[in-house]
Amino acid sequence: MTLFSAVELAPRDPILGLNEAFNADPRPTKVNLGVGVYTNDEGKIPLLRAVRDTEKARVDAALPRGYLPIDGIAAYDSAVQKLLLGNDSPLIAAGRVLTAQALGGTGALKIGADFLKRLNPNAKVAISDPSWENHRALFEGAGFEVVNYPYYDPATHGVNFAGMIGALESYAAGTIVVLHGCCHNPTGADLKPEQWKKIIEVAKARQLVPFLDIAYQGFADGIDADATAVRWFADADLDFFVSSSFSKSFSLYGERVGALSIVTSSKDESARVLSQLKRVIRTNYSNPPTHGGAIVAAVLGNLELRASWEQELGEMRERIRTMRNSLVEKLKQVGATRDFGFVAQQRGMFSYTGLSAEQVERLRTEFGIYAVSTGRICVAALNTKNIDAVASAIAQVLK
Ligand code: PMP
Repeated sequence: MTLFSAVELAPRDPILGLNEAFNADPRPTKVNLGVGVYTNDEGKIPLLRAVRDTEKARVDAALPRGYLPIDGIAAYDSAVQKLLLGNDSPLIAAGRVLTAQALGGTGALKIGADFLKRLNPNAKVAISDPSWENHRALFEGAGFEVVNYPYYDPATHGVNFAGMIGALESYAAGTIVVLHGCCHNPTGADLKPEQWKKIIEVAKARQLVPFLDIAYQGFADGIDADATAVRWFADADLDFFVSSSFSKSFSLYGERVGALSIVTSSKDESARVLSQLKRVIRTNYSNPPTHGGAIVAAVLGNLELRASWEQELGEMRERIRTMRNSLVEKLKQVGATRDFGFVAQQRGMFSYTGLSAEQVERLRTEFGIYAVSTGRICVAALNTKNIDAVASAIAQVLK
């Protein structure tokens, strides 16, 4: 008997496990549509111009590396608020929003979950069915019971809105409802404006606690357009949480740049909530890292750099849209036995293709194309060099 003799081997993370299998595959024609990363037409993760220039300037300035405040860089937190709620948000002006820089969107969810557990230990957490696979694990890890609300409807490739609303209406006051602000992961199926309005109405009437997770702002229709739902929650005078991330929009995956923002009912409440959130952060990781946050703050705070970032973000968004349309067209051309028109309607980096686990398995073994067994593909990993092979392989496994 040793200290660790009873420790069981944990199952591999399904998506990171897929990556390992991809890396080990010797076929030169292999394509990785598994992991959620944007790659350009050359199949590379881009380093954005604004990031590169800011980074150079920072290195040249040879700055010392002291600790950041527990809640991060003040200019960063303020820039996050403006991106989410708009430059002229009356809530920001009234001091009703507090923001803490966090270790990516994941870190934001984690400190939000830990804080909520102290605030309301008996609340349940509701996530979409299906959702980003880490939502359940994160909230369960914080000690919550996690339930699913109906979301994806495979028959329409859209949202089962009646099912979703029915579930929200049945929840007890205080239930924490995790909503994808835009670009739903994994399905690509987003809520329509009038559906968001209804959700806000129900959240208010049932005193639910909305937790908006927005990891892809700028990837659907634009920076402001993608924040519409967040801004409507703000207009509705609700208290709510927002986790946000620059992993995708700044292509800064490994730098861990995200934020948790909380909208409260008053400036005084915000100060008290922030003081408690800081205790959560202090006992988790003390304070966030400097590099990524400093870059984002510098880019967002400089007109020229910001314009350059917006342009490149727009190019990424357009490229994804082109790949969606192109995949639909090419699948038609190679005689796919199904209509994939819905792929062009979905938003963000992902698409639920409707392929079965067996078909996904065949894509991998026969064609070296890696997708998640649920049928999720990362559309942002398609490019003009691999899309023909992907379309033809999908058509073949459908036969
Ligand atoms: N939420 C959702 C819905 C996501 O898809 C992701 C990343 N794939 C995250 C949060 C976490 O983002 P980050 O990598 O910044 O931690």
